[in-house]
Amino acid sequence: TVGDGAAFDVVVVGAGAGGMMAANRAHDLGLSVLLVEKSDRFGGTSAVSGGAIWVPCNGDLGGQDDKAKALTYLRLCTKGQVPEEKLGAYVDNAAQMVRYSTEKVGLGFKAVMEYPDYYPHYEGALPGGRTMDPAPVDGADLGGDFFRLREPYALMKLFSRISMTVSEARAITTKKSGWPLLVLKVIAAYWADLGWRFKSRRDRRLTMGNALAGGMLRGLVKRGIPRLFNTALVRLVRDGERVTGVIVARDGREIAIAARKGVILAAGGFERNQAMREQNLPGPTAEKWSVTPIGNNTGDAIRAGIDAGAAVEFMNLAWWAPTMRLPSRHTPNTETRVGLFMERGWPGSVIVNRQGNRFVNEAISYNDFGYAMIADQQASGANVPCWMVFDATFRRKYIVGGLMPGMMEPDKSLPPEWVDNVFYRAETIGELAAKIGVPAPALSDTVTRMNDYARTGKDTEFDRGGNVYDRYFGDRFVEPNPCLGPIEKAPFYAVRIDLGDIGTKGGLKVDARARVVDQADRPIPGLYAIGNCSGAITAASYPGAGATLGPAMTFGYIAANDIATST
Ligand code: FAD
Repeated sequence: TVGDGAAFDVVVVGAGAGGMMAANRAHDLGLSVLLVEKSDRFGGTSAVSGGAIWVPCNGDLGGQDDKAKALTYLRLCTKGQVPEEKLGAYVDNAAQMVRYSTEKVGLGFKAVMEYPDYYPHYEGALPGGRTMDPAPVDGADLGGDFFRLREPYALMKLFSRISMTVSEARAITTKKSGWPLLVLKVIAAYWADLGWRFKSRRDRRLTMGNALAGGMLRGLVKRGIPRLFNTALVRLVRDGERVTGVIVARDGREIAIAARKGVILAAGGFERNQAMREQNLPGPTAEKWSVTPIGNNTGDAIRAGIDAGAAVEFMNLAWWAPTMRLPSRHTPNTETRVGLFMERGWPGSVIVNRQGNRFVNEAISYNDFGYAMIADQQASGANVPCWMVFDATFRRKYIVGGLMPGMMEPDKSLPPEWVDNVFYRAETIGELAAKIGVPAPALSDTVTRMNDYARTGKDTEFDRGGNVYDRYFGDRFVEPNPCLGPIEKAPFYAVRIDLGDIGTKGGLKVDARARVVDQADRPIPGLYAIGNCSGAITAASYPGAGATLGPAMTFGYIAANDIATST
């Protein structure tokens, strides 16, 4: 038991993938470690994520990547806002972190060779391979901690219960050859696991974010690293300049825990704190538009750091993601949020502001789509929310957020109250426009133009489908442009899109060694920050899939290394 006055070399605050990586690494470097987690589950947003990490120069890339190329790309992404030394530290350590994870923590990764970087037009971008997927983890290895691992979102699983890796999910959604067999295999494996089925409906084959967080948690379990849940950082303890411990709230009282060598803050961003959102992010903004777990990441570590004299940066930024609401089918008056990560690139849809006008290439990355919503809101005053419009063919074939393709889940199988509420439906574009309060002539013109582009294969306004990233999310069976299709078959549909996020990216300013710095850029002794409670190493950009978790874990690894080698 860890009581008031306990002392460790290192205290890690927050059990996301970055925090748990730091704890494993610090232990392996001979330090005593305590991990404290505010919620009743380990894993944070990391556990419900796709689990991808962006790792330049990783071992699977062979000669296709090198430090100069990766740095050129990151420099262009970050537009001079991130010191060269920090970018260099990331490129130098990310692949090392993966090697350490594979060899010592037992969680391996595989490069996704066809997943392109998000800015394919920048020098140094790669058409694939920097994004890596975690290997599946056997949840049984976690022992009793299995049920302490935050569960993945139902929508990330097959039939809301069977785990899939990112590659499997992609093979199924893009109908790669052999996909029906793959579905059968995954289903059979789930049901063949009879002993476990009697125990739980929850799949013990952990994939995506659950593999990442589960793999890190398994490392803690195997090492016997003490870990407390329902234990929240309240404030930092200082002795002069130096941070020497934490005060945490546990069972309704405050206890002090000393950290002889360092405190690593890994407690996520402030996306679940409406007041901090309103103070920092461009409006309108709402906590409920975020796809992150409710209640966890309320900026506690950022505020504690500020109170200890830390500087902050990038507080006006988030990892933006367009989201839609989805009421629960089982629990009245509750709803979840679903991100629209891939459907914006599929053919046969268009996204318009409330004046009926397009404002961006819909297929760009979710983060840049968010910036486009903000820019258009500032220019037109008629965005946030905006509308995704599609036709019956699109509805039948593709997922839209939380709506499964109509061929699997036709409208008549959905709760009737979802019609003209979760999604709007009408026999003509004019009627649909009236329902969603968008001028009909403008929407009709936009749809007519999209239909022309579908025929020619060339979007002359925004060049949708004009690059390798867009086409990754296109439908390869559609020609001449896999991202463009006509919107012509009734009924027509619209879904409201809010400016959501998968976390905020502003936080405590850190140096290349993950040390928190003060207003004069001097490190605060004993204080480290990683992940979304630190200012993002990517600034406003999102270099590629995994660019939030890759840095969180890499700087977790760097922080532990630094503590072990500092006196
Ligand atoms: P978290 O993982 O949220 O961990 C922070 C932990 O700190 C939480 O457990 C929280 O409860 C705890 N905490 C908060 N306050 C306190 C306190 N006071 N005391 C103690 N503990 C505290 N990113 C990628 O790179 N790749 C992806 O594939 C990807 N897919 C995503 C898919 C979805 C659906 C979502 C929602 C996000 C995705 N992301 C992805 C984003 C990524 O998951 C987050 O940016 C990342 O998990 C943030 O890591 P973190 O360690 O900063 O925070």
